Amino acid sequence: MTTLYRHEPFTDFSQKENQEAFKKALKTVNKEWLGKEYPLIINGERITTDAKIVSYNPAKKDEVIGSVSKATKELAEKAIEAAATAFETWRYTKAEERANILFRAAASIRRKKHEFSALLVKEAGKPWKEADADTAEAIDFLEYYARQMIELSNGKPINSREGEYNQYIYTPTGVTVSIPPWNFLFAIMAGITVAPLVSGNTVVLKPASATPIIAARFVEVLEEAGVPKGVINFVPGSGSEVGDTLVDHPKTSIITFTGSREVGTRIFERAAVVQPGQQHLKQVIAEMGGKDTIIVDKDGDVELAAQSIFTSAFGFAGQKCSAGSRAVVHADVYDAVVERVVEITEEQITGNPESHSTYMGPVIDAASYEKIMGYIEIGKEEGRLVSGGTGDDSKGFFIQPTIFADVDAEAKIMQEEIFGPVLAFSKVASFDEALQVANNTEYGLTGAVITNNRAHIERAKQEFHVGNLYFNRNCTGAIVGYHPFGGFKMSGTDSKAGGPDYLTLHMNAKTVSETY
Ligand code: NDP
Repeated sequence: MTTLYRHEPFTDFSQKENQEAFKKALKTVNKEWLGKEYPLIINGERITTDAKIVSYNPAKKDEVIGSVSKATKELAEKAIEAAATAFETWRYTKAEERANILFRAAASIRRKKHEFSALLVKEAGKPWKEADADTAEAIDFLEYYARQMIELSNGKPINSREGEYNQYIYTPTGVTVSIPPWNFLFAIMAGITVAPLVSGNTVVLKPASATPIIAARFVEVLEEAGVPKGVINFVPGSGSEVGDTLVDHPKTSIITFTGSREVGTRIFERAAVVQPGQQHLKQVIAEMGGKDTIIVDKDGDVELAAQSIFTSAFGFAGQKCSAGSRAVVHADVYDAVVERVVEITEEQITGNPESHSTYMGPVIDAASYEKIMGYIEIGKEEGRLVSGGTGDDSKGFFIQPTIFADVDAEAKIMQEEIFGPVLAFSKVASFDEALQVANNTEYGLTGAVITNNRAHIERAKQEFHVGNLYFNRNCTGAIVGYHPFGGFKMSGTDSKAGGPDYLTLHMNAKTVSETY
């Protein structure tokens, strides 16, 4: 009998003892975790290659976090074959046995929670609070999916007639290729690995090349918790070099991907092709980009609006698919909201996230830095720069939180995913216009409305087309089991990670009918 699921509490860093504990964890990670080399793992075998992927600290760009061996196409194929062989036994293990492995892994991470979070500070440049939330979410995925699997293990009730006993059960699908992004380097990586595992599938995990070390550590946790060899295979490699091999392989059954629209659509298309020897259609679970909007209605609370816009735009330097990079504000409160957001933003510190006082750290790498600075230049043409606008990549990839006002709803910075600390304000004359602007991108991931108007709340529920819609709060910070997460339109397949239907996407439903 398992206890009721509750999300992992966040650490209160205003408490001195928590600050001290986190500083200690940072010391441990700096001294004992950094600079190590990790091999590939295929069928339990450690394989070291000459070619390596090196992970660097984006806040101190010369500091090496660690390195991993790098898969070739042949090794990627070998991993799929190993996963296919292991599937023949893993698929028949009891759901509770699989779930127990996840519970043990969660307990193991909890014991070193701050060390894991400190690693996220170092590997992705996450400030303490963001790193703590990422680790908590990883634990949540383990705890939540384990319970979901136990619940689903007897299937769902269907009707039986006289002389007939009918059952509706879920059976595992097959080899799953898990391809996570670097931004939720722990939570999403762990979530898209353990959901297929606990559902009875075997996994080939290809971590994001910017953040492979946390993934290597997590695979160690899974092995210690009892995942048998071949059931989890760890295959770091460049997406552009081994991605197609993993996706195209005829023995791949599921591809679970989170990342950009460009790569997601490529995977979707390639997975549709039936390869020689393939006896099934592949399932693609794709969560992609976002261009998320906060609407402020004319009677919305200005302070609440400003805090919500600020948090949504600049948490983890705007590098969240859910980041609120567009604020669409009614003319009656527009000036007050813009002014207050600028004020709050300029009180915050951008710098090395190892320091507790840092609100915003660096962006992930040189390519991101260049891309975001390019959008800032575009923004200067498209709007009125009211805050930030500068960057410094001499030590790490730091960009000041940047705000543009008076931006046209069709402007590039209102339409394209920037994935950095850049916020655009657009003024509207009515709630109708606000909804129209909110829906005017190809994405449909998250959104928020700040309003006290009940009729407008009801309208937005129907007419604001996003997978995750929030009222009177920020549009980031979904919690597993509380805010199942995933988007519409080009934001993905709306698979709702951390929700009650998620595991069923990894299984084949089977109807069994016995006549007596
Ligand atoms: P990318 O699409 O660049 O990379 C994601 C993953 O895909 C990486 O592991 C990458 O490997 C891999 N990859 C790259 N090319 C291929 C290929 N041809 N075939 C298979 N795999 C490939 O995204 P980012 O990591 O830059 O993440 C940022 C994006 O993720 C943003 O667009 C963001 O909105 C989105 N995202 C969406 C979320 C959602 O839930 N909707 C949540 C979080 C992020 P490698 O690193 O080796 O290139």
